Amino acid sequence: MTSDLLAFDQAHIWHPYTSATAPLPTQLVTSAEGVRLKLADGRELIDGMASWWCAIHGYNHPDINAALHTQLSAMSHVMFGGITHEPAITLCKTLIDITPEALQHVFLADSGSISVEVAIKMALQYWQATGQTKKRKLLSLRGGYHGDTFAAMSVCDPDTGMHHLFNQAVTPQFFTERPSSRFETPFSAASLADLEAVFAQHHADIAAIILEPIVQGAGGMWLYHPDYLKRVRQLCDHYHVLLIADEIATGFGRTGKLFACEWAEITPDILCVGKALTGGYMTLAATLTSSKIAQGISQNGGVFMHGPTFMGNPLACAAANASLKLLLNQDWAAQVKRLERTLKDQLMPAQQLSTVADVRVLGGIGIIEMVEPIDPVTAQAFFVARGVWVRPFGKLLYVMPPFIMSDADLTTVCQAMLDFAQHGAA
Ligand code: PMP
Repeated sequence: MTSDLLAFDQAHIWHPYTSATAPLPTQLVTSAEGVRLKLADGRELIDGMASWWCAIHGYNHPDINAALHTQLSAMSHVMFGGITHEPAITLCKTLIDITPEALQHVFLADSGSISVEVAIKMALQYWQATGQTKKRKLLSLRGGYHGDTFAAMSVCDPDTGMHHLFNQAVTPQFFTERPSSRFETPFSAASLADLEAVFAQHHADIAAIILEPIVQGAGGMWLYHPDYLKRVRQLCDHYHVLLIADEIATGFGRTGKLFACEWAEITPDILCVGKALTGGYMTLAATLTSSKIAQGISQNGGVFMHGPTFMGNPLACAAANASLKLLLNQDWAAQVKRLERTLKDQLMPAQQLSTVADVRVLGGIGIIEMVEPIDPVTAQAFFVARGVWVRPFGKLLYVMPPFIMSDADLTTVCQAMLDFAQHGAA
């Protein structure tokens, strides 16, 4: 039975970023509880990925389950055009309360990529509506990743990123060098020269800069110093460029602050959140913006031109409300600090290995960058045999566990990463 399901899966189903003719092996998961994924053959894996940053409270959480059951019996979906509901209102109110005060308007999107599309459209519409029609380009950082849809792809790193196949098809944008400091190391003036030059030269054409604050995720798991964000904010103010913060991965506590922009004490003009918003239960994201931008777009009868079918889905909003309640009613900062301590204790020794290029830890994120690329198939088999779920990519081994993971479980995950870093899959 299991083998039939897996055979069908391999023959017919696309998984993220895979080939139809040479698919990567898949694990058949039948249930998930706490921090453990249960496989069809009875084995359990400790989940070091939190389902790509999402499942911060772990799986099958009674509070989120209960919220979903209650919402299901009231209303699973209703169109958002001309209709509103309490789960969406409560959610937007919470989002406005926990993000910087200037952000007062919320657009509910159905995935992270769409929240980025929405952010970009907000920036473009704002300048159109306010008469600065030349401002149609985006500025983005090398090493950045913002999603898989077309506008989002146009602001991903065009050289090392995942979407170079589409370089000729997407709108050409401006790029500046990857912020090349570490989280701990302030920037030298020289390392900001490229950023400053791009602003000085092209600001008249630039609607917004989009960046992932502090942690560049899928583009390479790079961490950088908060001073960079402070300088970006100053340049944006000086040159009249909007700042879009993509906190889809970093939002809701992952870096040790509720939002990574807080490390630099800056307020973006537009903020994208997703992933952990529903605790990983449902697909939902949100784009927040200021009254200045919202009013600019709306002047002279202007409307914001986006409206997905599943906008504000009540089940997703109910899951998000339960997840945010759980997060905000506990000492999440202490949880993440505890994860950070364990990750540092466990992973930093890997810096001594000749096979390892770098180790980086911040909040609930631990990264081992290898000298050589990792073969994903043998690596995955190695980790599954060790009873842990981490998914290497490129030269990177990385872990971002559910916040509830015990030190003992996190140590098991880190030890497996260390063994792999030292000995490979042998
Ligand atoms: N921005 C960032 C920083 C992300 O990490 C991701 C997802 N990996 C996205 C955007 C796109 O989100 P989604 O996969 O939900 O479309």
